[in-house]
Amino acid sequence: MNTSELNNWLQNKKTVIIDGATGTNLQKMGLPIGASPETWVINNPEAVLGLYTQFVDAGSNIILSCTFGGNRIRLSHAGLETKSQEVNQTAVTLAKQATHGKDVLVAGSIGPTGEMMEPFGTLTEEAAFDIYKQQAQYLIDAGVDLLVVETQYDLNEALAAIRAVRSISDIALICSFSYDRGTRTMMGLKPNQVVEALKETDVFAIGVNCGKSLETNLQVLETLSSITDKPLWFKPNAGAPETDETGGVHYHIAPEDMGSQAKEWVTMGARFVGGCCGTSPQHLAAIKQGIKG
Ligand SMILES: [Zn+2]
Repeated sequence: MNTSELNNWLQNKKTVIIDGATGTNLQKMGLPIGASPETWVINNPEAVLGLYTQFVDAGSNIILSCTFGGNRIRLSHAGLETKSQEVNQTAVTLAKQATHGKDVLVAGSIGPTGEMMEPFGTLTEEAAFDIYKQQAQYLIDAGVDLLVVETQYDLNEALAAIRAVRSISDIALICSFSYDRGTRTMMGLKPNQVVEALKETDVFAIGVNCGKSLETNLQVLETLSSITDKPLWFKPNAGAPETDETGGVHYHIAPEDMGSQAKEWVTMGARFVGGCCGTSPQHLAAIKQGIKG
């Protein structure tokens, strides 16, 4: 759907529930730490379908395909370089299957390349454009309803992704940044710089996802809400990550605590709410309940 079709879909919905984490939930189901979730799209599709289904049952209105690492650079790290199209296509098919014909949209998740752009790294703007264009095309061909360019930290990379999508389609597009340093992204980017740059684009909504603690994510949400009229997408982690001695990462905010805060997120301007790392289907159900209550 394009932007105006998404607007129509949104008409009778006040707050839209997105989904929870993909990686951390698949790890709970046995995905080895450090393994790419995309490997399970191919090797354990039942688990991926099971997780999507749990999100839909918990009340998601939009679920994201298991394609965060579905660009060819990340897929090559996962040994899936020859399967770019298959991974993206299969992940979307599984997500669509999980909607069971309900009024739930499937958004194609597009994560960062994981490489640094010039001059800090070797990735050229041209290469980034081409990588994003390829993944976006696979996701669109697989039938996603919208695209979410997420967990971004570098403005130039995000803009290359947006241009790449727009070079092939007018599909509704959301762009979300991860404020890993608190109220700045890993590259030092601030919310006002994001808003300023995205003003020139036709992204439907601006997002905050992953990042650091729930408190700092809320600060970013508050800032965004005071400087832009665009709808806001809020998908924080279930607290700050803590690593144990085996390398496992844990998130400590309980479902009921996340749920009881969710109403405040909406009051602060979030139109789309869900959770990133550590957010289980139980968290999501509590968020949905919290917004109602
Ligand atoms: Zn995350």
